[in-house]
Amino acid sequence: MDLKRLDEILDARGEPRFRAGQVWEWLAGGARTYAEMTNLPQTLREELDADLPISTLDPVREVKSVDGTRKALFETVDGRPIEAVLMSYRDGRRSLCLSSQSGCPLTCNFCATGRMAFGRNLTESEILDQALHFRRQGSVNHVVFMGMGEPLMNLDAVLAACERLPAVGVSTAHTTISTVGWVPGIERLATEGPRVRLALSLHAAEGDVRSGLMPVNDRYPIPEVIEACLRWREARNRRVYIEYLMLAGVNDAPDQAVVLSEVLKPHDAFKVNLIPFNPTPGEFTGSSPEAIAGFRDTLIAHGVPATVRLTRGRDIEAACGQLAAGRAA
Ligand code: SAH
Repeated sequence: MDLKRLDEILDARGEPRFRAGQVWEWLAGGARTYAEMTNLPQTLREELDADLPISTLDPVREVKSVDGTRKALFETVDGRPIEAVLMSYRDGRRSLCLSSQSGCPLTCNFCATGRMAFGRNLTESEILDQALHFRRQGSVNHVVFMGMGEPLMNLDAVLAACERLPAVGVSTAHTTISTVGWVPGIERLATEGPRVRLALSLHAAEGDVRSGLMPVNDRYPIPEVIEACLRWREARNRRVYIEYLMLAGVNDAPDQAVVLSEVLKPHDAFKVNLIPFNPTPGEFTGSSPEAIAGFRDTLIAHGVPATVRLTRGRDIEAACGQLAAGRAA
């Protein structure tokens, strides 16, 4: 819901201040219609129903994976595509992957979103409406900003959305912002907003390899990014998750694991998540399961905690930008 417009409508009617909170509580609890919001005056419910759509997003398509992962493609009012994914796990975790931008201005060359044109930053309401879409289908308890876009380039809206997520069921400790290593944003996260978790998409420990994958590395090189992460870790007293995409022949050699373990010091500041590549059109091939397991073992032998991420939703093109990119093609 356009929460700014909601405030304007309530103000224009001279409604008491607590009304916006009431509407938000209903939405956060999964309400689908104003008719359900029984503590609002009938005339207000009718006016809102006529003037303010319940969501800023129009669901265009929803696909369900054999593993239960659901992916939704939405369109904003100005026709921008965005997508969000819900992953359900046996242990009860229901994790939402949200987008912060339509498209992305960064051009990581393994990423489907990076190959699309950049649209624009999403508003706080558009970020929350992705979560509310899935909340209407059931409970949710984790959020990762690993959908389309670079969240630290839209940090005001992302943090405003994070403030509201606990009402939807997602505590701040269960909210993770993932970044390419946008240093000014990492610095702000150390002191501003709720104490969310931080994930860094590193993908290579050697500067030339990383620049080849992620042009943003020329602007914010690895040492600067790692220093910013260590300052965040100092301020927030939490480990930084390192995302490391496993690409055959690019960044998966055993000696590259050793270099990575050198870059990630002190070791107790970081935890590495090795990510199997979700194939996108282009030059890359994912590493073999053996190469991934070997890389993990080398990291562990060098003192760096490391795990391999479960792949979910591969049959529904659930990797960053794949569904929206398919629509555009
Ligand atoms: N811009 C932020 C968040 C969005 S991308 C960031 O880069 O962290 C979320 C994660 O998905 C990143 O680690 C990104 O590198 C990864 N990713 C992108 N394309 C992928 C693919 N095809 N397979 C697996 N992971 C991918």
